[in-house]
Amino acid sequence: MRFDILTIFPDLLASPLTEGIIRRAMQDGKVEIAIHNIRDFATDKHAMTDDRPFGGGEGMVMKPEPLAAAVQHVRQLMPGGKVVLLSPQGCTYDQALAQALAAEPHLILVCGRYEGVDERFRDHYVDLEVSIGDYILTGGELAAMVLVDSITRLLPGVLGCADSATNDTFSRGGLKHPQYTRPRVFEGDEVPEVLCSGDHAAVGEWRFLAAVRQTLARRPELLATMTFSRQEEKLLQKHGLLEAVREHQAAGQGRG
Ligand code: SAM
Repeated sequence: MRFDILTIFPDLLASPLTEGIIRRAMQDGKVEIAIHNIRDFATDKHAMTDDRPFGGGEGMVMKPEPLAAAVQHVRQLMPGGKVVLLSPQGCTYDQALAQALAAEPHLILVCGRYEGVDERFRDHYVDLEVSIGDYILTGGELAAMVLVDSITRLLPGVLGCADSATNDTFSRGGLKHPQYTRPRVFEGDEVPEVLCSGDHAAVGEWRFLAAVRQTLARRPELLATMTFSRQEEKLLQKHGLLEAVREHQAAGQGRG
């Protein structure tokens, strides 16, 4: 998979690529990440990438021509590629969208600054507009890195253990079960005994129930999209959780 990131602050993006899983994925050729300075595509002698808004008002707006020229340059290097604009006005990013984007061979991520980008660039070049949440950042660079990080870890062979991504919070829709490591007793609090039993079936059952309890306690609205096998439903029933789960699922259907 390849990411091309368009920004006026390329240095902001350098360090996250030099550490940990992303760096290893790049070294192993699982992902290719290229950063392009939008200023290199400005046409005037001052390399201006922004200008005052028509109609007056506060701030500056990113000019459409340098952005368009940067996208065209990337497309010459590698044809195709989905253009994703980072924007607080886009659809809200979540794990399902990360999974969908991980199936794309090539993403061109466009980082806005100032008051955002000229609407005509959006209309003519942008395939998808993505927000990482209902708050305003000073620029799209950190949002672009959120996409790069969350998508790269889903690519085949990137995580050491293939199961890590499939067992994560949100991969089945709900939260992951609580986790423990050594020491067995911390400040008088002991690790649940079943986790030290070596009984894999019992551990699996405990983890499933603990994940559902965690979801019920912290993010019950997530249950609306979750589905359970007959065997799982029986287990939920046996432990007195099925009714609460069904209530939240019904409430979710009412909302949806
Ligand atoms: N004036 C714009 C508005 O009210 O919608 C906000 C512009 S913001 C200060 C500058 C840039 O930061 C945006 O163009 C976008 O690229 C990025 N940005 C800000 N918040 C974001 C968010 N929640 N998700 C993704 N990108 C964001």
